Amino acid sequence: MQILDGKSCASAYKDRISAEVSAAILTGKRKPHLAAVLVGSDGASETYVASKVKTCKEIGFESTLIRFPETVTQEELIEMVDRLNADSSLDGILVQLPLPKHIDADQVTLRIDPTKDVDGFHPGSLGRMMLGLPGFVPATPKGIMMLLAHNKIDTTGMHAVVIGRSNIVGTPMSVLLSRNQNPGNCTVTLCHSKTPDLKSFTLQADIVIAALGKPEFLKADMVKTGAIVIDVGITRVEDLTSPKGYKILGDADFEPLAEKCSWITPVPGGVGAMTIAALMQNTLEAWKRNTHA
Ligand code: NAD
Repeated sequence: MQILDGKSCASAYKDRISAEVSAAILTGKRKPHLAAVLVGSDGASETYVASKVKTCKEIGFESTLIRFPETVTQEELIEMVDRLNADSSLDGILVQLPLPKHIDADQVTLRIDPTKDVDGFHPGSLGRMMLGLPGFVPATPKGIMMLLAHNKIDTTGMHAVVIGRSNIVGTPMSVLLSRNQNPGNCTVTLCHSKTPDLKSFTLQADIVIAALGKPEFLKADMVKTGAIVIDVGITRVEDLTSPKGYKILGDADFEPLAEKCSWITPVPGGVGAMTIAALMQNTLEAWKRNTHA
């Protein structure tokens, strides 16, 4: 078994981005600039946004964090998105999900200028991805494709089983893996909560992408020997022995699976790290379009 190390792969991508930005700044260009909108004080969302802001700093990007209380109205959020859209010093805008229940997240996402939609959640971005046109690909599936490419894993002809059909992970992942490209060229089965006998599908898989948000759901007896396992899940589980009071678990039962797989991503240090690297790559691409015309 080999570890698909998202941390070191993300580092390599970030070094490349950072070098490109430093060189451009020497020629008088401004820094790439990402704005993040955070609503409320959910612990996981705080952590994700903090690491995005920290990564921006590390690689020479400008970042702006806009916070709203849990009680923010739909109108206030939309007004902020409009202001960010109109700000020509900004290359990328992200609104951290999930949003409180009284907010219609789709309306907020729809409002983001597609040219600044570095999370790739706008219908325009998803439509472009479906058609194979240049555009912003959602950061988590994009990060997984970057991780496979970096490790020179040839997925041509593989049977990929994706567990989970969310708009931001499972569904775009299934599209990207089925594309006529490498990584890609897979025969894809997209499984979800209504799939009967899931194990009969995962046992056929050369590559399993677990993105359902159920800790340690994927067991060793659900995959064949030599399969590749990509664990997208991030769930906080109470752990009174940890100073934080919780630990992070993925969707894969790591230790027993690791003995059986050819490659497996750890949690943490796998897909999460790549998601941030992919977000930075999307922001870099937006900035290049804005400043290299
Ligand atoms: P989601 O809740 O929107 O979707 C979950 C999907 O899993 C649904 O499509 C559902 O049909 C499917 N599902 C649920 N139970 C199932 C079961 N028993 N069998 C088969 N399918 C089942 O979740 P999401 O936003 O796609 O996130 C999934 C997980 O990935 C979560 O743990 C989330 O925290 C994590 N995540 C991680 C990253 C990262 O950067 N690593 C990014 C996004 C999401």
